[in-house]
Amino acid sequence: MEQQNECLAITIQGVVQGVGFRPFVYNLARELGIRGFVSNTSEGLIIQAEGPGLDLFIDRIRQQAPPLSRIEQLEIAPSEPCGYADFSIRESRNGSSFTLLSPDISVCDACLVELFSKTNRRYRYPFINCTNCGPRYSITRSVPYDRQNTTMHVFDLCDDCAAEYHDPADRRFHAQPNACSVCGPKVSLLDAFGNRVDRSDPVGHAAELLKQGGIVAVKGLGGFHIACDVMSHESVALLRQRKRRSNKPFALMSGDLSFIRQCCEMDATEEELLTSPQRPVVLLRKKEKNNLPDEISPGNAYIGFMLPYTPLHYLLFIGNNGESRFPALVMTSGNLSEEPIIHTNEEAVRKLAGIVDAFLVHDREIFMRLDDSVLRVMERSGRSTEQNVPAVSFIRRSRGYAPEPVPLLEDGPSVLGCGADVKNTFAMTRKKYAILSQHIGDMENYETVQFFEETLRNLGDVYRVVPELVAYDLHPRYLSSSWAQEYGKKNGIPLIGIQHHYAHIGSVMAEHGLSGKVVGVAFDGTGYGTDGTLWGGEFLIAHSRGFRRAGHLKCIPLPGGEAAVREPWRVAVSYLRDAFGTKDFLRHIEPTGLCDRIGSKAIEDVLKITENEVFSPYSSGAGRLFDAVSSIMGACDLNTFEGEASMALESLALKDVDEEYPVDIHFGDDIEVDFSYGMLSIVEDLRRGTDRRVMAAKFHNTVASAIIRIVIKLALMNNIRMIALSGGVFQNLYLAEKVVGGLQAEDFAVYLNEQVPCNDAGIALGQAYLAREMMKAGVIR
Ligand SMILES: [Zn+2]
Ligand SMILES: [Zn+2]
Repeated sequence: MEQQNECLAITIQGVVQGVGFRPFVYNLARELGIRGFVSNTSEGLIIQAEGPGLDLFIDRIRQQAPPLSRIEQLEIAPSEPCGYADFSIRESRNGSSFTLLSPDISVCDACLVELFSKTNRRYRYPFINCTNCGPRYSITRSVPYDRQNTTMHVFDLCDDCAAEYHDPADRRFHAQPNACSVCGPKVSLLDAFGNRVDRSDPVGHAAELLKQGGIVAVKGLGGFHIACDVMSHESVALLRQRKRRSNKPFALMSGDLSFIRQCCEMDATEEELLTSPQRPVVLLRKKEKNNLPDEISPGNAYIGFMLPYTPLHYLLFIGNNGESRFPALVMTSGNLSEEPIIHTNEEAVRKLAGIVDAFLVHDREIFMRLDDSVLRVMERSGRSTEQNVPAVSFIRRSRGYAPEPVPLLEDGPSVLGCGADVKNTFAMTRKKYAILSQHIGDMENYETVQFFEETLRNLGDVYRVVPELVAYDLHPRYLSSSWAQEYGKKNGIPLIGIQHHYAHIGSVMAEHGLSGKVVGVAFDGTGYGTDGTLWGGEFLIAHSRGFRRAGHLKCIPLPGGEAAVREPWRVAVSYLRDAFGTKDFLRHIEPTGLCDRIGSKAIEDVLKITENEVFSPYSSGAGRLFDAVSSIMGACDLNTFEGEASMALESLALKDVDEEYPVDIHFGDDIEVDFSYGMLSIVEDLRRGTDRRVMAAKFHNTVASAIIRIVIKLALMNNIRMIALSGGVFQNLYLAEKVVGGLQAEDFAVYLNEQVPCNDAGIALGQAYLAREMMKAGVIR
């Protein structure tokens, strides 16, 4: 038949470089007897294919593409037959354009088998990897992704490794980090002072130390962890004491799914996420009875677990005779309080001496540091099949996911969004992609700003982005905003401020390609409003070129400003004052027990400060409302880390409670939600001795139904069917599920963040997207 001489030019775009795509195509073509060539170019992967059965060839490319790759576009065009004799891999041609860089991926099953097979030449070699697994973004210094552009350039391939590297039929063909014990990086153990300890088995020795209750810094893929044995309650308590005083939960690593199942509830989605090649930390609900020390995540119903993801982790967990050494290890990120994660051996020794007893280090340099990603599965059972409800939500998007871009609907100018100050990330648009940085951290110290700049420089180079516009948050005291303004001025790039909550809603519009108006519900702690007050419980009518504030929570003074964010009991006093007035205040609030816990003197002082507008800025922050109720119900009076009080409140809430508290909604041009009646009822419930788990549920139900009622009204008034929900408060699954369920029951299309966190880490995407849309529309030039 004619088909014999069919010839096609195939162009594939997406994540296709450094993921074993060319050898995959090569082997497939050979198998099917197809002639031609495959090559990496700046436009993506190009294949010239001649021969019979090209349909099958293309089908199998789509279906069997390498695990790390992602095909975003596959174009097929007929081509003139060239009479190729065979199929070959042609040299990369890299022009001025860009290709997508793969994130770092956990060691694959094939490599794991080799790691523990005594006859393999890489038996127990801690840096085994192949084209389907291993470090990528963290070791890439520039593009194209070739060995000399990674931190592996200092290691010369031995003959065996070189043979694999050059053999298209080999799993390690062009695996840039390819290495073995003869030619590659090595692990070593340092004592508490950073002096090298001479041991034939440094990993085994580190494991021994951990078993004896020691605390060890372990160099991983994106940075250092601080590890200790979970089963040693003393070590966990000691680590908490040494590292910081806060109650921030420690992440755990376990190679044993049955152990995780003993400690936590885990459904199929959660298990799938845990075992995925990205290997994120997954937040799981603790079982009533578990053997874990309370110090892991005090007062929190959830615990973060991850599986080992580097060969070194596996070697730490599995002994020389195949025995399991620990059921789980604490693996908390190696840093000082809010500083970025430590990634060099020198810095680890300098900063962590005094915290750890030893350092398990290696000489493969980490170029780009990355924290562990943290995710949470939405509804545990009976998950809605509605496609708009995401199965998972990001708390932190970093290792395994960054720098994978968020695809946008269409091309546009390059814009830089500098993010917010808490949980900072930045975003750059390039063509039809938004490239998000990994989690940078809280922009409160010099080290974090440095990390921001070093990541921006690297991603800017890799993706060849030259911003034409810089977007920043309106907050006058944000470090990220002043940085943006200085950067814009220095480089002569125009600037635009994007309101915080509008950016939250913008991030949802960007992810889902929403054009047209949406009702946006942005609930978070606080963000700077266009009127100079602190917003945070906002209802917006928004589109990609502007927004209107249509409603909000009633503004309440925050006694002591920032102090009120750290100390929820202060906000509790403010809300209770709003409900009861100041007369006989202490008598009224007696059932809350606040006087016993905080002291009546302190409460009366704060009551006075509340009257003073200079020291008590007004805020409509939804996060503050949750804080206040958490303190009033006695769940948490102090935030030793961000979100602690509201997480404690969510942890308390019982499912299957339908009751609500009263709430006043003043409908008008400016809709206002007033919870003061609710506060009276909460105190009354406390007086009656109502189960606090029921009370916490009632409160969540109240907020959810207030949101639903307001959205229905706004949607009707403005003839809108699309609803966007964002802001850190929607990390609260109890609330998110209630709101989504309620709105879908009314036939609305409900959208939430899926690819980026709904907390302030998503702000950068919203900024970049909205600024770009406005630029495209000519609103700004
Ligand atoms: Zn592998
Ligand atoms: Zn080698």
